[in-house]
Amino acid sequence: MAQLRAHLEELAHLKSTLALLQWDQEVNMPAKGAKQRGTTIAYLAGLLHDKFLASNATGLLTELKAALDKGSLDDKDSVIVREVWREYEREQKLPSQFVQKLAQQESVATHIWAQARQDNRFDLFLPELETLVALKQEEARLVGYEDTPYDALLDTFEPGATTRELKQIFLELKDFLVPLLQKIQSSKIKPNPSLLAGRFPQPKQERLNRELAQALGFDFGAGRIDASNHPFATGLHPEDVRITSRYKPDNLFYSLLATLHEVGHALYEQGIAAENFGTPLGESISLAIHESQSRLWENQVGRSREFWQFFFPRLQKIFPRPFQDIKFDDFYLALNHVAPTLIRTEADEVTYNLHIIIRFEIELALIEDTLQPKDLPTVWNQKVQDYLGISVPDDTQGVLQDIHWSSGLFGYFPTYTLGNLYAAQFFATAKATLPDLETSLTKGDFQPLGEWLRQMIHIHGKYYTASHLVKEVTGQPLSSSAFCDYLQTKYETLYHLTS
Ligand code: ZN
Repeated sequence: MAQLRAHLEELAHLKSTLALLQWDQEVNMPAKGAKQRGTTIAYLAGLLHDKFLASNATGLLTELKAALDKGSLDDKDSVIVREVWREYEREQKLPSQFVQKLAQQESVATHIWAQARQDNRFDLFLPELETLVALKQEEARLVGYEDTPYDALLDTFEPGATTRELKQIFLELKDFLVPLLQKIQSSKIKPNPSLLAGRFPQPKQERLNRELAQALGFDFGAGRIDASNHPFATGLHPEDVRITSRYKPDNLFYSLLATLHEVGHALYEQGIAAENFGTPLGESISLAIHESQSRLWENQVGRSREFWQFFFPRLQKIFPRPFQDIKFDDFYLALNHVAPTLIRTEADEVTYNLHIIIRFEIELALIEDTLQPKDLPTVWNQKVQDYLGISVPDDTQGVLQDIHWSSGLFGYFPTYTLGNLYAAQFFATAKATLPDLETSLTKGDFQPLGEWLRQMIHIHGKYYTASHLVKEVTGQPLSSSAFCDYLQTKYETLYHLTS
């Protein structure tokens, strides 16, 4: 175990270095540096892959796996070996030639996708997408699967999740969301989102973001906030966690909600026990559990009445225009205004998961070979019409909007929705466990919730798997019911719906 730990520590140095280079690429790097940075990152990623596989060069991992199977390792060592073995088993099935070919294609395709999106030219992207889909199908074959090749891809992002389970949950969700959206749209209550428009100089927005992050528990001694085109969070170590936000001068909430989201990710990274750094016990469980933390702070907290009861007066003080003359209830309604949008990242809580379901259905069909890439725009536009009730004017605002497929991220989208479901289920339990939670939120006191999340989720690293954790924390397996209850209660009240 000591030998394995030493090896993992070495890998952790490489991972932190890669994270720092990627952060720098988005935040500081001059444009001309992009090409060389890409080469450096690819080199280090290859080195990391080789070093990881070398951890079993002398049969160390095989030996430890045998000890694990015999039950002769203690609790924590068992988790370390279980997780490292899981990753090793997958990686060693992928020949380095294949890994390089895929990385190369992802890099080329991302570049061409950016151009295709800008010029609204799906035809430009199509050949790259065809090659990528074929490579991802090959990856699934190499890794192996029982039910569908999609399972093999999903497993990279959400260990243990299955397509079968997703199909069931997403079907329930769709059956709930589509009628809810229709009811909301036919409600007599018409929020006025234009109330929230104004002029918000970026330095003032940045100060407010920092104030909110601090209130939520973000440790500025162990983290920083910068600006980038696409907001993200990255953890180099629990004591060095960086997030970014984005800014529009006329839309305060474009940045504010993105910041709350990224702070949620950061609190998870800062909450992991530093003494476990480098081992799976010092890593987050999965993308969906990570997303549950960001979504919980962004939505359950950041779009709640309680949160704004505390912060609205502060907002009125910082930006007297437009907020001084707005009644609280009108503000709260405008903030939670539901309307189908073409763009996923601008969607409200009700329609967001419909965007994900569309992507899930499409990528599943692509990987299972029941849909050809050339038919993507037609199928996309039809689904947007069916689920969201709007027509797509062009591919830039349609099938070309997200970077994921061009970067080879097939099986990633579902983790966003799973994150929303986990968030609702965790928050419902937090409310039941912390009887004064709502009162503390109205006082701007986020410490009890933050501490609860840390103790229940963050501190354990990968000790529990996602499905084990949700049972441990909430007493129930993951389902869509807490999320549906949350939306039903909130939007029934807001839009005066009758059921
Ligand atoms: Zn996120």
